[in-house]
Amino acid sequence: MLRDFDNELKTLDAQHLRRQPRIVQSPADTTITIDGRRFISMASNNYLGLANHPAIKRAAVEAIETWGVGAGASRLISGTMSPHAQLEDDLARFKQTEATLTFGTGYTTNVGLLPSLIDRNGLILADRSCHASLVQACRLSHATFRVFHHNDVEHLETLLNKRKHAGPTLVVTEGVFSMDGDLAPLPELLTCCQHYEATLLIDDAHGTGVMGEHGRGTVEHFGLNPGDLIQMGTLSKAIGTSGGYVAGTAALRDYLINTSKAFIYTTAPPPAMAAAASAAIRIIQQEPERRTRLWDNRAYLHAALNRMGFHVPDTQSPILPIIVRAPETALKTSEALFAAGVYVPAIRPPTVPKHGSRLRLTVSSEHTKAELETVVEGFRKARKTIEQ
Ligand SMILES: *Cc1c(COP(=O)(O)O)cnc(C)c1O
Repeated sequence: MLRDFDNELKTLDAQHLRRQPRIVQSPADTTITIDGRRFISMASNNYLGLANHPAIKRAAVEAIETWGVGAGASRLISGTMSPHAQLEDDLARFKQTEATLTFGTGYTTNVGLLPSLIDRNGLILADRSCHASLVQACRLSHATFRVFHHNDVEHLETLLNKRKHAGPTLVVTEGVFSMDGDLAPLPELLTCCQHYEATLLIDDAHGTGVMGEHGRGTVEHFGLNPGDLIQMGTLSKAIGTSGGYVAGTAALRDYLINTSKAFIYTTAPPPAMAAAASAAIRIIQQEPERRTRLWDNRAYLHAALNRMGFHVPDTQSPILPIIVRAPETALKTSEALFAAGVYVPAIRPPTVPKHGSRLRLTVSSEHTKAELETVVEGFRKARKTIEQ
């Protein structure tokens, strides 16, 4: 026998770490239906309300009519259709890079990217809080892999100074950290990388569509030159669809096309998904008011929760974590909120560190003030659970 599955699941249960997906019976929106009941959802990365947007749905439906459902082959065989090419052009213009290359998901983008950037002769220095897909990707590359303390440029410098490597160095971080919601100090990291001749890669999964005046991401937020670093991101969060991309030089794109296993050996994403993502990128650019509403909502909820005595760090992103440490407390609070008609998931290890269990709220531009008031009311009711 491989493992005693039943027994291992029981152990997870006893530690309050067992997970089970809830089945949602409605589209991703500010309210969702679970077990036939309506809940205000603070659990989606659909920051701009595009996952269920009429014009984007229409673009997908029309593309299904024109292009069918499946792409039928991998991108290099016969799976690259006009909508894929169009999306990569649209994304490159949006991200202001020479070129982009799309993948099936954000996860496979990372796994497909890192091993093409660096190999066993190289060194990767990654922020301790990086997403599991980045960690997995770093390991797959076979490069020497070290982590630096979260957002600690001095620690990164110490590691760069200790370097004995003759080979290349890649520094990996996220623009907006997915579980903490804080931003990486990108200008300082970039200066450090340039000084030590390292390449900076940022995962902007939660920054794209949200950060910067035009929603181009954290690189725009900090006023950096996109040509000075490599970016990846996902189409599944603010962009509201599904897929991932790398944004960089045309040479990087061509090199990935020729070497990235997660690009080469998988069927092209559905062409309608590419058409939907193109439509979403148009809306992100044409409707900056969505970002205005998003930041208003975020400021409102952040202030209201802090006034009630919850310590919500000033993350500068729509991700608001409330760290309660113990997984059991996170679960209990989440259940109390659920009873009050508010869905806030309990985030537990291994997604976060051992004493880092938390409630993680994500705000959308489309939450109404009334919905946010219900969330605040839910926290008032759930507070007793946290204080116990
Ligand atoms: C969500 C996420 C991914 C994975 O993207 P998917 O499109 O969901 O596979 C990668 N990196 C970070 C930081 C993320 O938050």
